[in-house]
Amino acid sequence: MNELFRRVMALFFPEHCPFCDEIIHPLQDGCESCIDAIQDTTSCCPYCGKPLCECKDRKYLDGVYSFAFYEEGVRDGILRMKGEGRASLCRNFSRILSRQIPNRDFDWVTFIPMSPKELRKRGYNPPKLLAQYLAKETKLPFRPLLDKTRETSAQHTLSLEKRKTNLIDAFAVEKPSLVRGKRILLVDDILTSGATLEEGAKTLKESGAHSVFAAVIAVTDNRLKPKEKSDIMIENGETDEKTAQ
Ligand SMILES: [Zn+2]
Ligand SMILES: [Zn+2]
Repeated sequence: MNELFRRVMALFFPEHCPFCDEIIHPLQDGCESCIDAIQDTTSCCPYCGKPLCECKDRKYLDGVYSFAFYEEGVRDGILRMKGEGRASLCRNFSRILSRQIPNRDFDWVTFIPMSPKELRKRGYNPPKLLAQYLAKETKLPFRPLLDKTRETSAQHTLSLEKRKTNLIDAFAVEKPSLVRGKRILLVDDILTSGATLEEGAKTLKESGAHSVFAAVIAVTDNRLKPKEKSDIMIENGETDEKTAQ
C-alpha cells in the first residue's frame, strides 16, 4: 500500500500497535516501547527457526522466517488477533514479517489450513489472512494449496510426543499440478514444536514441491526450562479455550 493512501486511510481507520493496541502513526509498525521490547529472532537457526537448533527433527522444511519470540507484547497481539478476529492486526503483522523475507523467489504464498469444523468455531483462519496480506506486501502470488482432511486435537493441548503424531496425514494437496516443481512459502502464526509446518511441508513435497519455506510471526523459545515451557502451553491453551466460547 502506498504511503499517501495509508495516511488518508488512517484518518478514518486509525492504525493500532499490533502488540499493545495503542493508536500509532500510520507509517509505524508499532508503538516505540513495544518495538524496543521485541526480542527478535535473528540469532535463530535459519533452517528450523529455533534458538537451539532442532534440524535433526526436520526432514521437509527448508527454512523458517520469523520476527519475534512468542512472549509478552507479541503473545498478547497474536492472541488478540486470533481471539477477536482482528484483520487489521493480521495486516500489521504481515507488514513486519514481510521485511524478514529478503528472498522473494517464491511461486506461491500459502497457509496452514483449518478443518471446516475449526473454521466454523473460529470464524476465520488467521494464517490464511496473514498469507493473503503477506502476498500483497511481497508482491507474490497467493493460493490455497493445502486442505485439512480430518479433525485433530489442538496442538497446544498435547505433549511434545503426541504433537508429532497428531497431524500425520491430516493435510492433502487439492491440485498437485499447482505444486509440482514450485517454491512455496507456507504461512502460520506461531512455530512451537514445528510439527504442523513440518507436516504441511511433507504434504507439499510429496506432491512434488521444489522447496517449502515457513513464515511465522513468532517462535517459542526452546532454551526455556521444561517447566516454563509447559506454563506457556497451559496459558496459551486456556486463552484459546476462552476465546473459542
Ligand atoms: Zn505498543
Ligand atoms: Zn536448525
